[in-house]
Amino acid sequence: ASVLVVGNGGREHALCTALLKSDTAPDVYIYPRNEGAVREGALAVPKEVRNWEELAEWSQKKGIGLAIIGPEQPLVEGIKDLFVGKNIPVFGPSKAAARLEGSKLFSKELMEKYHIPTAPWKAFSDKQSALSYVQKKGAPLVVKVSGLAAGKGAMVCDTMEEIEQALTVVFDTNAFGSAGETVVIEDMMYGEEASVFVITDGDSYKILPVSQDHKRIFDGDTGPNTGGMGAYAPAELISSDMLADIEKKIIAPTLSAMTAEGCPYTGLLYVGLMLTEDGPQVVEYNCRFGDPETEAVLPLVDCDWYTLFHTAATGGVEEVSFSIRAEYCATVVVASKGYPESSDPGQVIDGIERANAQDNVQVYFAGITTDAEGRFITNGGRVLTVTGTGKTLQEAVDRAYAGVSEIKFSGMQYRTDIGHRAL
Ligand code: ATP
Repeated sequence: ASVLVVGNGGREHALCTALLKSDTAPDVYIYPRNEGAVREGALAVPKEVRNWEELAEWSQKKGIGLAIIGPEQPLVEGIKDLFVGKNIPVFGPSKAAARLEGSKLFSKELMEKYHIPTAPWKAFSDKQSALSYVQKKGAPLVVKVSGLAAGKGAMVCDTMEEIEQALTVVFDTNAFGSAGETVVIEDMMYGEEASVFVITDGDSYKILPVSQDHKRIFDGDTGPNTGGMGAYAPAELISSDMLADIEKKIIAPTLSAMTAEGCPYTGLLYVGLMLTEDGPQVVEYNCRFGDPETEAVLPLVDCDWYTLFHTAATGGVEEVSFSIRAEYCATVVVASKGYPESSDPGQVIDGIERANAQDNVQVYFAGITTDAEGRFITNGGRVLTVTGTGKTLQEAVDRAYAGVSEIKFSGMQYRTDIGHRAL
């Protein structure tokens, strides 16, 4: 069997690593090229392929038996429908089902209709009615654009000034384009956040180890939000009883709601949760694996990944054998100078091989390319992630940082406190 992984960040490198270990030994292709995945044995799709249409055509000619889609943008734009039209099964939701991430209005309406716990909310498409609502409600509130905004579309506002400022940015400056045509205004929730990944064929599912991301750039959860600076799993702030409750009140109802709405959800369902005093509430759904959580979650599961992803695309997830190891993973993101506002391409990266040579350490490539001499060069904001595995969380964290300490490039930045909420 041949499998195609779409996307070239740390998440997709980790997906390739997992697939390359599969007993069914598929040929693993990645698009666009990820140098780390290729060095592990993944195959690059020819450079001539320039867009999703051409990728689907190339995949059909190549006899690709499964396409796994990493990022949300192509899913929300309907890449699955394109591949399925060429009889290629896809791990990931259809365009209609990807609305769970692509439209906050859709996801909030679904949760309301099916009584899935989430923050109270209202949606608006003009500033005047939004303003009169927020004046009635008062601060704090969270203002979110409904469409995709690369992680920048949620504005947590503690004061009325901040709320009005957020509404001005959305409605008057048009900073979010069509993603900002509708805003969802939510009540503030308080509590710890955790991510739950569910692999599903629309009906049956497997729940992966719970993880916790670190969104802020600096230690102690300070500074601006990023795509994620590190993660660990399992996050034991969710007990097995609590997880059973989340399964019953959130996961199963979400999947049956999507089926009832005529858009069964398949692929990876990411449930972002806030553990409030009133119990777990949904902050958001994503229609794909989280990055960097994936790098901390996949190594903890023993299963044949190709078979699991394939059955999620075609049916039969319940029959796949699947067990979670009694271990911990910690993942540290190493970013370039200027991240998250900018990046600093062209810096030579040293020490990746030394880090990988350590026991229970793996480096996943993100914003990395090679130069004419074959050296690794920075090429993006988040440059790489380092995952450590251990019998305890502390051991996993220590291993990850031992790996990071081998890596050197000018301007590198990373958080030194990954896992601090659990340790
Ligand atoms: P992502 O990049 O995670 O996909 P997004 O733009 O889809 O982000 P959300 O996930 O809805 O936006 O919100 C981003 C962050 O804002 C959350 O992780 C959480 O920390 C905070 N947040 C969102 N909604 C609320 C809320 N109702 N109460 C408190 N904090 C919230």
